[in-house]
Amino acid sequence: MKEIIEEEVVNEGGLNFVEQEIKDDLAAGKNGGRLSTRFPPEPNGYLHIGHAKAFIMDFGAAEKFGGTCNLRFDDTNPQKEDMEYVNAIKRDIHWLGYDWGDRLYYASDYFPQLYDLAVRMIKEGKAYVDEQTSEQIAAQKGTPTEPGTDSPYRNRPVEENLDLFRRMNEGEFEEGSMVLRAKIDMANSNMHFRDPIMYRIIKTPHWRTGTTWKVYPMYDFAHGQSDYFEGVTHSICTLEFVPHRPLYEYFVKELADESYCPRQIEFNRLNLTYTVMSKRKLLQLVKENLVNGWDDPRMPTLCGLRRRGYTPSAIKDFVNRIGYTRYEALNHIELLEHAVREDLNKTATRVSAVVNPVKLVLTNYPEGEEETIYMDNNPENLEEGKHAMPFTRELWIEREDFMENPPKKFFRLSPDKEVRLKGAYIIKCTGVKKNADGEIEEIYAEYDPETKSGMPGSDRKVKGTLHWVSVPHAKVAEVRDYDRLFAVENPSAEEGDFRELLNPDSLKIRENVMIEPWLADNAKAEDHFQFTRLGYYTVDPDSTPEKLVFNKTIGLKDTWAKEQKKASKA
Ligand code: ATP
Ligand code: MG
Repeated sequence: MKEIIEEEVVNEGGLNFVEQEIKDDLAAGKNGGRLSTRFPPEPNGYLHIGHAKAFIMDFGAAEKFGGTCNLRFDDTNPQKEDMEYVNAIKRDIHWLGYDWGDRLYYASDYFPQLYDLAVRMIKEGKAYVDEQTSEQIAAQKGTPTEPGTDSPYRNRPVEENLDLFRRMNEGEFEEGSMVLRAKIDMANSNMHFRDPIMYRIIKTPHWRTGTTWKVYPMYDFAHGQSDYFEGVTHSICTLEFVPHRPLYEYFVKELADESYCPRQIEFNRLNLTYTVMSKRKLLQLVKENLVNGWDDPRMPTLCGLRRRGYTPSAIKDFVNRIGYTRYEALNHIELLEHAVREDLNKTATRVSAVVNPVKLVLTNYPEGEEETIYMDNNPENLEEGKHAMPFTRELWIEREDFMENPPKKFFRLSPDKEVRLKGAYIIKCTGVKKNADGEIEEIYAEYDPETKSGMPGSDRKVKGTLHWVSVPHAKVAEVRDYDRLFAVENPSAEEGDFRELLNPDSLKIRENVMIEPWLADNAKAEDHFQFTRLGYYTVDPDSTPEKLVFNKTIGLKDTWAKEQKKASKA
């Protein structure tokens, strides 16, 4: 099981280890001082925050050192790939503020060169057509300590290999009936060198090249060469590709002279608690309707996080804090949430919303009277000004803010106790009305006209402050409250079916949320607000003026950060 890394990674000189390597290469004049990186997603799913960690590095390093970064779609498997994914991937990269300029490439652009290379390798006796099943081939692979077994087809004559490979590509043979393998070394201690598969037959048309090809290169036969064709100098990827690196270099040597070979540098993947990051699993959640699409706000996808209300700067800040290292880790999702809170605290407009409303009547406030209270848009940044909020005799307050028989430290409203209504008056509770079931229907209080906030003589202190919304002016909204998608901390480490680890209570819809009229008039899709005392909320794209919908982005309380602080002091 992965260790949970709690501390933030601090880099000397402000550079992480990959950037340091790049800097050293540039200083040494490698590649003529040129820097070219690439982000190579496979268009078989939506990008998640782990991919963001990767492309923040690829685009970020290029920006930092005056290089360029290509976007290359690794579209070598027509069975799983789709235009929908290509568009979504571009959108998400742009959302984080990066751009590939005119450097948009597809591995399928290189199919002709890769095919030519395969043919040349066959001619040079470096590749052969194997007619065994994938099971037979796997069984002959051996183990890291025992050599593999040669395929009976390994020494097929060149002419026969050439003929069969050509006919494979003409569609003469069934999928799975034969593959092209590199003839390298069945005893190599690196398993990837034991005659790796270069090409397989696939008859599904490709969304870009149609039916031109019936053989498709394996990722390992396409990736390193694609970097080479594009002149990539630094091919940055995740640690699982370390053992593939020598094979990439082996294939690139077939093309290159000694003067240039893309340099691969590997860093640790992002893994988050209470989250799965495998595209296969995320696809399954979507396909089986266990979530409401790729952009469900509970998903770790970039479009999901965006809909939830996470911001590009919070995501970048988080990635920067966890850093890039060479050891696998599991990062706390609370650190991401912490970054989101910090960012929204600076930017989100403060508004009043009551999510679980109960009516409060100020019995000594004149009926039909209305006052305008001016609320700060953001007390952290007074330049953002104020907005108007009507105050009347009947107000909505949170049900949880009243207790008939409160415990000692309850500083909210209870019989004969005083609280301040935020931005307005101090009130004192005088009684309640209950329905037949004993449930509180209305709360009564008297206001003290001498205590209006901001007025001379209003500085009498009381312990509690409540938020409120005027009953005759309130607009009804829907709020979607989210909890962790998974009920266990490290779902990928558990045995069995990951779907059984889903948290059954990860979505709670509140239909009857009372919001202040200014918010109703100003809420546009994807806008962020702080609901005073409750948390950060973001307008859902489904929201309409008739039916306003908010996603709860994150609560205000950062218990985790507090505990971290305590622990570091202890
Ligand atoms: P697959 O299992 O389908 O290969 P993948 O998540 O690796 O899934 P790719 O589209 O191949 O998908 O990923 C593109 C790039 O993103 C790769 O270079 C990969 O190293 C990087 N990447 C993927 N997942 C993570 C992660 N969790 N953290 C950091 N980088 C990641
Ligand atoms: Mg991959």
